[in-house]
Amino acid sequence: MSGGRLVIFSAPSGAGKTTIVKHLLSLNLNFGFSISATTRNPRGLEQDGKEYYFLSVDEFKAKINQDEFLEWEEVYPGCFYGTLKSEVERILKINQNILFDIDVVGGSNIKKYYGDQALAVFIQAPSIAELQKRLTSRSTDHPEVIKERIAKAEHEMSYIGLFDMVIVNDILEEALLEAEEKVIQFLGTFESAK
Ligand code: ADP
Ligand code: 5GP
Repeated sequence: MSGGRLVIFSAPSGAGKTTIVKHLLSLNLNFGFSISATTRNPRGLEQDGKEYYFLSVDEFKAKINQDEFLEWEEVYPGCFYGTLKSEVERILKINQNILFDIDVVGGSNIKKYYGDQALAVFIQAPSIAELQKRLTSRSTDHPEVIKERIAKAEHEMSYIGLFDMVIVNDILEEALLEAEEKVIQFLGTFESAK
């Protein structure tokens, strides 16, 4: 499949978007992953330049001042995340499609900016209790951080209407299949319109 399309996955933390995005990257859909910049610390085996570009707050703010971000958000207090314009250019230049794993505000902003060139998918967990369970069993975040993320989830749900579609990630295999089908359909629509 040729490139130039954007597919955005957004959700409250713990809903499963990273799991779904990794699955899509394993298929042969000509996707490049948009590596975001963040000021949070790497967790687990995360590497700079692979999952994220890990920056200090000063480095991040310097890039804001130099207008280097397509979008950025202080997703959690003191914790900045953003999509670098250079990252999007890098992937488009090699004629790939771009896959975003990004918060609901950033996701809806990119959708607004790119319109029909982008498919924006909201991943929903079956309940807030299930979100909490997943974040706890993921064991990557401090209980205080999990509390902060859960507190934010309800507000994040109010962004659903700005997305093209919702996938409820209850049974993982079903959600992966649905994501796969919807993305292939979106990319295929553009292939056949050429
Ligand atoms: P996000 O990127 O949205 O924060 P993750 O993809 O990291 O979420 O998923 C959070 C945790 O929940 C991970 O440990 C993941 O393995 C698990 N998980 C994802 N989808 C499901 C599911 N459908 N049922 C149970 N656990 C899931
Ligand atoms: P995490 O710390 O779990 O990797 O990500 C926390 C939240 O920040 C998630 O909702 C994730 O999708 C979001 N995020 C990651 N990259 C970006 C980005 O470039 N911009 C915005 N706005 N949010 C991002």
